[in-house]
Amino acid sequence: MLKGKTAIVTGSTSGIGLGIARAFAAAGADIMLNGFGDAAAIEALQADLAKEFGVRVLYNGADLSKADQCETLVTDTEARLGKVDILVNNAGIQHVARVENFPVDRWDAVIAINLSSAFHTIRKALPGMQARGFGRIVNIASTHGLVASAEKSAYVAAKHGIVGLTKVVALENAESPITCNAICPGWVLTPLVQAQIEARAKRENIAVATAERELLIEKQPTARFTTVEQLGALAVFLAGPGGDNMTGVALPVDGGWTAR
Ligand code: NAD
Repeated sequence: MLKGKTAIVTGSTSGIGLGIARAFAAAGADIMLNGFGDAAAIEALQADLAKEFGVRVLYNGADLSKADQCETLVTDTEARLGKVDILVNNAGIQHVARVENFPVDRWDAVIAINLSSAFHTIRKALPGMQARGFGRIVNIASTHGLVASAEKSAYVAAKHGIVGLTKVVALENAESPITCNAICPGWVLTPLVQAQIEARAKRENIAVATAERELLIEKQPTARFTTVEQLGALAVFLAGPGGDNMTGVALPVDGGWTAR
């Protein structure tokens, strides 16, 4: 479905980004991976995806907390893969603390990586998309782009912000074949959430399995995690022809979390 297309997926060395990169590669797109991690493991990941799906898989290790590196991620992809058809802004971090105790440097980092990086990659990728007459932008927001939880001020502010940015980019490009949408996952069992489960187990002096169950049922009525494969399938749909007239939406994949 995506043969001949090229996609950047930020934060794709782990978790949801990796799931989306895999789904895009399976659909035939060439991929620019990004994110932190062990160099040998990233090289092996590139080789495995390329071999399994017969697509080109490159890597750029841009630190997306820096505006200039967000820009070079886009220009490097244009130079090495020829264009950017699909841009997935997925890289993200979390910090949990009450507002009065929230470290200022953590606030700045969460806003930079979870929100400002998407502004920088989008503003750099749009001119090429506009010139070629095709573009698909998918921003990985969160249920926290739609509703809030205590102790996540920076994350909730950034995720509400990215939903707003999504709508503006959609409207500004509405008459062109460029769409911009947000996906809002509920709980997905990735390293980002595993850290929260382990912190809860420690704080409440309970088993990790109990903390996992409590975290799930507190928010997510299905009591099942959303999977990276489900999010990959939705991203492929949005990037493909079925998504042609969907733009400016924020789609929850949250087991009923925001239905409450
Ligand atoms: P993860 O920790 O598994 O992966 C995060 C990725 O971002 C990694 O590849 C990491 O290297 C990369 N990254 C972090 N800082 C970076 C930086 N400065 N520059 C470049 N890359 C950087 O997390 P995840 O759970 O897969 O989260 C991915 C996205 O999904 C995030 O935006 C997160 O907010 C969102 N999300 C996650 C969940 C969940 O339950 N896991 C739910 C809703 C939304």
